Amino acid sequence: MLDRQESVSRFPEILPYPLHKSPEIFINNEWQDSISGKVFPTYNPATGEQISEVQEADKTIESLNSGKPFLPTLFVDIQGTIKTLRYFAGYADKLHGTTIPIDGDYLTFTRYEPIGVCGQIIPWNFPLLMAAWKLGPALACGNTIVMKPAEQTPLTCLYIAALIKEAGFPPGVINILPGYGPTAGAAIASHMGIDKVAFTGSTQIGKLIQEAAGKSNLKRVTLELGGKSPNIVFADADLDLAVEQAHQGVFFNAGQMCTAGSRIFVEEPIYDEFVRRSVERAKRRIVGSPFDPTTEQGPQISQVQQDRVLELIQSGISEGATLECGGKAFGQKGFFVEPTIFSNVRDDMRIAREEIFGPVQQIMKFKTIEEVIERANNTDYGLASAVFTKDINKAITVSTAMQAGTVWINCYNAMSSQCPFGGYKMSGNGRELGQNGLKEYAEVKTITMKMVAKNC
Ligand code: ADP
Repeated sequence: MLDRQESVSRFPEILPYPLHKSPEIFINNEWQDSISGKVFPTYNPATGEQISEVQEADKTIESLNSGKPFLPTLFVDIQGTIKTLRYFAGYADKLHGTTIPIDGDYLTFTRYEPIGVCGQIIPWNFPLLMAAWKLGPALACGNTIVMKPAEQTPLTCLYIAALIKEAGFPPGVINILPGYGPTAGAAIASHMGIDKVAFTGSTQIGKLIQEAAGKSNLKRVTLELGGKSPNIVFADADLDLAVEQAHQGVFFNAGQMCTAGSRIFVEEPIYDEFVRRSVERAKRRIVGSPFDPTTEQGPQISQVQQDRVLELIQSGISEGATLECGGKAFGQKGFFVEPTIFSNVRDDMRIAREEIFGPVQQIMKFKTIEEVIERANNTDYGLASAVFTKDINKAITVSTAMQAGTVWINCYNAMSSQCPFGGYKMSGNGRELGQNGLKEYAEVKTITMKMVAKNC
């Protein structure tokens, strides 16, 4: 792994390949024109300009297309992608069934078999990592894949397609179909020849996918959807740690995280100090070009997302929350939003209920553990949560009470390929990563044979 200094000095040679010039479709290891002959533009969110000559790009593609700061992309997205693919590659020859003793003269054993053709629809916030989360387990279980990247960020997936061919995958095992959701995405969800659909994106579209699967062939469905994750900070917590982790937990990736810890519940005795330190930290956050190695926060992915975030900020102001810092677009071009903090947030405000997907932190006050557990769980979502305390009893009490697929204690976003990840309630169905994620890509078959004893 490169260290930061080395990665900066070797920047130009990190991705030596030019991106394949075609913005089209990768089927059977060949670049195909779309039947309609249509193409669609892809943009650089840091400038708002169309990326027209993709093959001449001289930067890391993921940052160029998604606006993610280059160094975090290298250390989180790229390293995470490599680790995930390696982790699942190791399972390819280790997914075995069991023999089961049953009543009577029978031999019973199970086998894990591929599901078949897996449709995979991925979002724009972690284009490469989300591709790896879905390709890895599907391939390890022996499936074939039809993947649709988000329309905003098709470039790294197309780059993977070029590498797939170069690596020698048999034609047809991995097919990449860039396109729009209501057309290409919806076609995957309703296709009778697709046996499973795995989706990461908004809860609203997740419902459509599940409905389409139900109306077509009852294909298997796994969904990783939105969140409004609570982060609970008790008065006995290490305050420096809690402030910094809460900051990273909501502002990382410009807040474009399904796990974003956007509801911070802080115990009353430390509330004012927590807000003061959080504001001081947010004001120091460096917003700017994804290719500047000092940048902490790049742009939102698109004008649409920037507008959505700014509109929700306005709702917070008009509903009476206290705007502590930020609140506006940043800079003259691109889709940047200032790191924004609201205090005195009520649970019924839109900024406390709706997924913002932007750099906006809500800080609320609580008095008792019973109260905060109830308020933290009072949401349709259930993806992630966190608790900061030095008291092991509080940590475990809160962790077991959280209606969420993940709880972090004294840390945030500590994710790894080995651990199952997914949502309770309207944050999704099924799990990704870990053994649980692997088995979402396999059918288990029970084989039972009558034992006939004969004299030899
Ligand atoms: P966001 O609102 O953050 O863009 P979406 O849930 O709309 O998130 O998008 C996530 C992925 O779902 C993208 O690849 C998008 O193209 C796809 N998508 C959007 N609408 C549909 C749909 N009706 N059917 C299937 N996929 C869709």
